[in-house]
Amino acid sequence: MKPVRWGLIGASTIAREHVIDAIRRQPGGEVVAVMSSDPARARDYAAANGIPRACSDLAALLGAGDVDAVYISTTNELHLAQALAAAKAGKHVLCEKPLALTVADALSMVEACRKAGVVLGTNHHLRNAASHRAMREAIRSGRIGKPLAARVFHAVFLPAHLQGWRLDRPDAGGGVILDITVHDADTLRFVLDDDPVEVVAMAQSGGMARAGLEDAAMVTIRFAAGTIAQTHDAFTVKHAGTGFEVHGSEGSLIARDVMTQRPIGTVILRTAAGETPLPLDDEGLYVRALRQFHAAVRGEGQPAAGGRDGVWSLATALAALESAKTGRAVRVAPVA
Ligand code: NDP
Repeated sequence: MKPVRWGLIGASTIAREHVIDAIRRQPGGEVVAVMSSDPARARDYAAANGIPRACSDLAALLGAGDVDAVYISTTNELHLAQALAAAKAGKHVLCEKPLALTVADALSMVEACRKAGVVLGTNHHLRNAASHRAMREAIRSGRIGKPLAARVFHAVFLPAHLQGWRLDRPDAGGGVILDITVHDADTLRFVLDDDPVEVVAMAQSGGMARAGLEDAAMVTIRFAAGTIAQTHDAFTVKHAGTGFEVHGSEGSLIARDVMTQRPIGTVILRTAAGETPLPLDDEGLYVRALRQFHAAVRGEGQPAAGGRDGVWSLATALAALESAKTGRAVRVAPVA
């Protein structure tokens, strides 16, 4: 199989903990270069992760001719310019969420990749989880009747090694809404196969985040078909556990431990007939995301989450931020 040679834009934790391995698990998947803004960190990161080339300049990463695709996992304010440069250089782009800090910027990334004829993926890993795929399928095949409500439990404790820019850099897109609610928005869209239309939110600064940022939020989203969904997201809650529920006219789907980076958790279908656990595979979420992305690069299908999916989740999260700030319901403009 033709290799897909990756350049990493950002010497990040998420690349180190999940994405480098997911790339290397693909037939032909190679990590050939890493770029950090700091030359010493680039070198150290390359050495620690067995990456042949280190650089501290985007032009050097993109210009050497050894990169087919880039994975952007820098802080959020940098995604836009890096994605535009990569598209211009003809590289496929897998970008972290949120794609950008405004809907207009995210749309310009989608447009730039379309024009350049390169694949754009948004790394919304959760739609790759067997649990969320099984829930989507159960809803599609009518097993809970008409979906009426969904509840997302995604209040977690931000580990010490990640207690940095998320907590004190509004300019970098810090705060729990752009970090976690954005994932909930995508997972809800995926599981319900529906788009959000309106959002009401309240945010909390519970003592961990600074600089006016929120470290917890409760958000209610109305979807086009009428389903209402609520989410609880936090950096500050140690013992809640995670979950995802969809309640329909004929049954409920109850998933536990599924808002996570690992292929774990359970889903139960509860109806008048009793409770049935749904069978789940255990493929890694990022491994599956990279498998789909590589297929898209070969011209076979689409990434698990594309550019427009990233625009939708960003638009929903920004509506939640605005609602929390103004105390009003905010419409989510449709992503064309
Ligand atoms: P990190 O804080 O680990 O990395 C972000 C940037 O911070 C890096 O690009 C790096 O800059 C800089 N940095 C990293 N370590 C150091 C250090 N020791 N000293 C100084 N600077 C450092 O962020 P995450 O990996 O947590 O997140 C990166 C992106 O990925 C974000 O967009 C986030 O939203 C997203 N994310 C997505 C997840 C998912 O599951 N889809 C999960 C976690 C994060 P430089 O490259 O210039 O060296």
